Amino acid sequence: DHPVRTALNTGAPAGPLLCVLELEGEPSRAMECSAVPIRNELGGVIGAVFVLHDVSAILALSERMSHLAHFDALTDLPNRPLLLERLSAALGRARQGAHHLAVVFIDVDRFKQINDTLGHVAGDAVLKQVAERLLSAMGAGDTVARLGGDEFVVLIPAVNDRDAVAACALQALEALSAPMRVGRRELRLTASIGIAMFPDDGDEPDLLIRHADMAMYAAKRAGRNDYHFYISSMDAGAQAEFDLENALRAALARSELFLDFQPRVDTSDGRMLGAEALLRWRRTDGTVCRPDAFIPIAEASGLILVIGAWVLKEACQACRDWQDGPLRDVGVSVNISQLQFGRENFLQLVMEALREAGLPPHLLELELTESMLMEPTDAVRQRIAGLKSLGVNLSIDDFGTGYSSLAYLRRFAIDTLKIDRSFIADMADDPEDASVIHAIIALAISLGKRVVAEGVETQRQADLLAALGCHEMQGHLYSPPVDAARLAEFARRRGAARTRRLG
Ligand code: C2E
Ligand code: MG
Ligand code: MG
Repeated sequence: DHPVRTALNTGAPAGPLLCVLELEGEPSRAMECSAVPIRNELGGVIGAVFVLHDVSAILALSERMSHLAHFDALTDLPNRPLLLERLSAALGRARQGAHHLAVVFIDVDRFKQINDTLGHVAGDAVLKQVAERLLSAMGAGDTVARLGGDEFVVLIPAVNDRDAVAACALQALEALSAPMRVGRRELRLTASIGIAMFPDDGDEPDLLIRHADMAMYAAKRAGRNDYHFYISSMDAGAQAEFDLENALRAALARSELFLDFQPRVDTSDGRMLGAEALLRWRRTDGTVCRPDAFIPIAEASGLILVIGAWVLKEACQACRDWQDGPLRDVGVSVNISQLQFGRENFLQLVMEALREAGLPPHLLELELTESMLMEPTDAVRQRIAGLKSLGVNLSIDDFGTGYSSLAYLRRFAIDTLKIDRSFIADMADDPEDASVIHAIIALAISLGKRVVAEGVETQRQADLLAALGCHEMQGHLYSPPVDAARLAEFARRRGAARTRRLG
């Protein structure tokens, strides 16, 4: 079917035909070939003009564009459209061959924290390494795709049973768990994995991915670093979450939110120095919801901004009221969420809350988290300086659980460290936890910071902490979070508070 021959035989133009031009010693080129007959004055065909048009550049460009449309730019893994294409083809084959197929949804645990604390460049480097590790951990016939963010999907097109898929999931977890170098740091990643299978869990690409996603969330909720298979009750779970968000929206308007307060006591004499405001939600059915059940939803939906502003005002108002009774000189500490702290108007919000309540700033403490300070932008630095010059106290909550780099402690005017209660819980029998606590307290003292132990439940813990020099304690040994009336009662029993000694 050479175009010249066709043109000669038919007497009509032929082509264009895509072909490859091979010249010795040169890279081959893509050509479009066509031919047009040449006639004599009698109309007889006596030859042909052969036209070669070099289209290699155009072809390379269109291949590049098709690649871009189907592959993720960062990791070069197939993206969602290509995954869907391959998944529906694989589903066709699975139906014909009557075999199973698995969609494995993988989400890196706490990736947001990595991104927020180490920066986007490091976050990208982590994602690339995750992609490489998944590729080498999975079988040759499997598709490893990136859906976006820290979400990856592995398509296993033919598989015998659940055990085989579970083995793959474990392999993926293991591949990710090896130490990962990012710049000068070494990270250890975990991931949460959800699995949906054809035909049991769905027979459409979208549905299988959605069900694998739900199973992944179940793995996250159950404590991360594990895999879950989809079960049909998870649909109800997702619906419940959606309902919760809507109910939370209404909760504000219906005044269903309120604060409890948990005392912080001085280790040396057992008097109350302050109290932490802890958010509660009384549902319309009368049940009281703890923050761990709804703060993550408030954060994901942005509702935390309105709720957080309300908490700040409410806590300042409460603390102002305390100053006229047995809770005189008792300060209040308020938990601040990352989203709230990142807002430009945060400082203004704090000033407003103080002013409206008429509360002296030294009675307010803001509980920040390590991740807010790790990779500070100029705006964050200014915000902290601004808060300090207002005269409010700053503490780090859940200290020891973040990606601790202690450098920021010296850089920032943080007054207090609150040691996370997971360390306290195990300190009596776990020498490693005890030595972490010892180190934190020694460090804090040497930097002139105060140390608070959270979650103190037993006298033995309290004695050990006191011996290590811990300044303040908070926990059920003293009091659970209670309402303002019971807080006053607690203070009466303990004797009047004194102004906290800093450093
Ligand atoms: P957190 O700031 O570390 O608060 C301490 C948590 O430990 C509280 O749980 C408290 O009830 C609990 N706790 C205190 N003593 C003990 C003890 O001896 N044993 C045990 N097992 N637990 C103890 P809660 O009230 O459920 O709050 C959980 C988390 O929710 C808080 O952790 C905080 O991170 C967040 N949170 C609470 N209120 C707010 C808020 O107004 N805004 C924001 N953004 N987060 C909040
Ligand atoms: Mg706290
Ligand atoms: Mg805490």
